[in-house]
Amino acid sequence: HDTIARTDPELWATIEAENQRQQDHIELIASENYVSHAVMEAQGSQLTNKYAEGYPGKRYYGGCEHVDEAERLAIERVKRLFGAEAANVQPNSGSQANQAVLMAFAKPGDTVLGMSLAEGGHLTHGMALNMSGKWFNAVSYGLNDKEEIDYDALERAAHEHKPRILIAGASAYSLRIDFERFAKIARDVGAIFWVDMAHYAGLIAAGLYPNPVPHADVVTSTTHKTLRGPRGGIILMKSEHERALNSAIFPGIQGGPLMHVIAAKAVAFREALEPGFKAYQQQVLTNAQAMARVLAERGLRIVSGRTESHVFLIDLRAKKITGRDAEDALGRANITVNKNAIPNDPERPMVTSGLRIGSPAMTTRGFGETEAGEVAHLIADVLEAPNDETVAARVRDKVATLCTKHPVYGA
Ligand code: PLP
Repeated sequence: HDTIARTDPELWATIEAENQRQQDHIELIASENYVSHAVMEAQGSQLTNKYAEGYPGKRYYGGCEHVDEAERLAIERVKRLFGAEAANVQPNSGSQANQAVLMAFAKPGDTVLGMSLAEGGHLTHGMALNMSGKWFNAVSYGLNDKEEIDYDALERAAHEHKPRILIAGASAYSLRIDFERFAKIARDVGAIFWVDMAHYAGLIAAGLYPNPVPHADVVTSTTHKTLRGPRGGIILMKSEHERALNSAIFPGIQGGPLMHVIAAKAVAFREALEPGFKAYQQQVLTNAQAMARVLAERGLRIVSGRTESHVFLIDLRAKKITGRDAEDALGRANITVNKNAIPNDPERPMVTSGLRIGSPAMTTRGFGETEAGEVAHLIADVLEAPNDETVAARVRDKVATLCTKHPVYGA
């Protein structure tokens, strides 16, 4: 039959090469993970053929009876997973879920208050070049001198600017966020309270990180990070906002939903409801903390001093290496990370003085606390001698041993 390998060997070669890269490299990008075969099977299914504009039971196309059922399963499961009153599983990505919130609750020119990108926020929360920053009057809050969210300053900013929307959530912040305190501030100034839990969703589903759903008007997320589902987005909301948010997704900013991806989301939510998922997330947390501890012992400063999640930032300045050079040196040793600005970073965004490290992917392939500690030592070895090819070769060897012992998709 028509396998890609037979019909399109040129493209197949890139898929095989990427598959091999995922097997052979230690993946420490905090926003990545490896999905199950079942999730990939759903995403590669015939549901990709179906148009289904609208929502289950109210479509603009015929023949939707089966995809309706798939979408209903995804909605019911994700509501149960997070204790939400209502859910929309159609956003094609985290960014589109976030655009829908802005569309539903604000008009161009309205003020939104979110975490500064430079201190850990996401670009869809008001960065100048993003739609959220171009079309809205975006103001931001950040960290205090302990590198924790400065709730007092945030409260003052909320009273001063009276935002239409208050945004909580981050892409590079290792600590727990006090969603109750945010909710109170939003109530006091009459703002809609929106949480983007993309990074923490898996930990939240497992009860290992505070759940924003009881406190927020609306919660958005990606499904592909700690949650370990297909690449996509979701919106959880209070029932009173369901009409506004559903219509912001369709017909507001999207057309036909990706029904194969929605089916894959349903599979991932079912996996997340199983008891093994909690054990996985506990290991994600343990592994992140083990890596942070070893790196600190090796003389690297951890931003905020610790991690209470799957992610943390390393301040590289003590080792006199930039984030860009550290990312390159680790890459040559088959360890994949991303450079990341640290608070008050003196370097440009394409250079930076930091690295972001995350444990979700390596934990999925079976790395425990011992392996996490070993990986942290390998990182420190490379950072101490970034241009030493002998060190890189020795680290590559150790990486190969660890990766062979823990195959991503079976031997
Ligand atoms: N929100 C947060 C907090 C994120 O970290 C990200 C991804 O990096 C997104 C939203 C955007 O998700 P996507 O890349 O699916 O558009």
